[in-house]
Amino acid sequence: MRIIDVHTHPIFFNVGRHEREINALVAHGRALGIERMIALGDVLRYGPRPDAAQLTRLNNENARLQRLHPGYFVGFCYLNPLLGEKAVMQEAERCATKFGFKGIKLEIANNASDACMQHVMKAARAFGYVVLQHSWSSTHFGPDLRDHSDPEDTAYLARHHPDVNIIMAHLVGIGYRGVLAAKGLPNLYVDTSGGYPEDGLVEYAVEHLGADNVIYGSDLPIRDSSTKIGSVLGARIPESTKAKILFSNTARLLNLN
Ligand SMILES: [Zn+2]
Repeated sequence: MRIIDVHTHPIFFNVGRHEREINALVAHGRALGIERMIALGDVLRYGPRPDAAQLTRLNNENARLQRLHPGYFVGFCYLNPLLGEKAVMQEAERCATKFGFKGIKLEIANNASDACMQHVMKAARAFGYVVLQHSWSSTHFGPDLRDHSDPEDTAYLARHHPDVNIIMAHLVGIGYRGVLAAKGLPNLYVDTSGGYPEDGLVEYAVEHLGADNVIYGSDLPIRDSSTKIGSVLGARIPESTKAKILFSNTARLLNLN
């Protein structure tokens, strides 16, 4: 089956940056049927709130992946919304015009329901970006992790910006609670990454979100691709739905040929 992985970190805490490592990753992906990887960047290398210079470095590194393997890696522009409208718009524009990146990646600088997200949505509209937001059910995290957006926070963002397509990351992290929070929002997609497979969860997501709004993501190298692909292939859903999750939903969402 054809596969696009919408959630990868080819370089992770500085590991994987050498050309031979990148070539090996592409070869490994191709052997599993992965035709493209969306590269989200080495997002936590400088901690949760990188400054403008650090973001530029990380986004340039993502662009290098695209240059080395054009047509394989697709970059997303990593942003820190707390840097304000001017910085957000500048970096979003640079990544769109210089690199042709397809989306914006947001991690844990702030919560998805914060006011500063207005700038990010403005950038998404201006440059036609999809927005991938780190999300996790923080029920058992304690009160000091407000910046780890809960599924309800990411759903809030999608609900208030129906003209921007948003990916809620980490199906296994948001769990059943997250699926219910994402329900009924046509511009909100859930990727399958985050933790190892949980029996019945992919089926539950398809049942409540529909076959068009679930997309394959691994979060490699944190998770192993073959296991994550198996969670879709082994789900009790129609073959045509598996093909949508693994390939065509993301191809359509990001306008990949
Ligand atoms: Zn990730």
